[in-house]
Amino acid sequence: MTNQANQGDLEIDPSLLKAFLNELHSQYKPLREGAVANYIPELAKVNPDLFSICIVTVDGQVYKVGDYEQLFTIQSISKVFAYGLALEDHGLDYVLTRVGVEPTGDAFNAIILDEQSKRPYNPMVNAGAIATTSLIKGSGPTERLNRMLDMFRGYIGRDVFVDILAFTSERSTGHRNRAMAHLMLNFGMIDRNIEEALDLYFQQCAVMVNCQDLAVMAATLANKGVNPITNKQAVDKRYIKDILSVMYTCGMYNFAGEWAYKIGLPAKSGICGGIIAVVPHKMGIGVFSPLLDVRGNSVRGVKVCEELSQRLGLHLFECQGKGENKQSDYKENAENY
Ligand code: GLN
Repeated sequence: MTNQANQGDLEIDPSLLKAFLNELHSQYKPLREGAVANYIPELAKVNPDLFSICIVTVDGQVYKVGDYEQLFTIQSISKVFAYGLALEDHGLDYVLTRVGVEPTGDAFNAIILDEQSKRPYNPMVNAGAIATTSLIKGSGPTERLNRMLDMFRGYIGRDVFVDILAFTSERSTGHRNRAMAHLMLNFGMIDRNIEEALDLYFQQCAVMVNCQDLAVMAATLANKGVNPITNKQAVDKRYIKDILSVMYTCGMYNFAGEWAYKIGLPAKSGICGGIIAVVPHKMGIGVFSPLLDVRGNSVRGVKVCEELSQRLGLHLFECQGKGENKQSDYKENAENY
């Protein structure tokens, strides 16, 4: 596809978009608010200065700035993709018997289940993600891990691996997640050996990605499940609306409401400091910066997504005409940059 076609899709001049990303990066690079996650010892070692922003359009154009090649563990962003695999393995009706789709308003690691149904609230918080991962089919732990890794390869478009140090670090300290798994076993929401289910969950969280991978994964969701770089189907397109809906309502934990209100895009964050946001039929956004706010969302990541949404008019419910939205501010700023 040519830049012309891309321009048509995004209604944004590619050179201005590149300048805008550079401007956002320079603007937020000095921001030092927040703290890196330290409850998983291995994660506390990350360099807090790392910062990258990447956009991939549905026609495969890539815009990137900062430390976009730096690898880190995907953490909770994996929950989105594991949910897609569980849906493919069992269908929506069955998955809904094990994991709900209601936002919790509580922290991502809250030890709570729905009072009535005993299901975890949704697949984007830890309890729901562990239950979701326990649904992945396979004849044993190795086959299940391989199926999980193959699924990630489809979204990312290259080989992927698990960071063994992050995995073992979380396995030896993840007692809170273990407590949730026991609670769900008690209520019949997990039937398999819970240590195996937890291992697979910790492994999926420890898959290594970079910021560009995040944007490609988000762009795949924006592009009906087809990776826009490899043109291969990564997930059955019938589940895209289910995945994006739950990202929209639950992906940013107890900030999900404010995020939906202000930014208006399906998104998911992880305690690695990554955020993905999906602009359906247009593009995927990836941001990486490990300094987190109290809810576990990247401080710079939230700010960057807020600016992108406002200044490019990306909010899903934006009603202003093209000339009326904040793109004009963006153009002025980008030209001044
Ligand atoms: N592996 C992390 C955990 O289970 C993922 C949490 C997150 O990224 N918010 O605690």
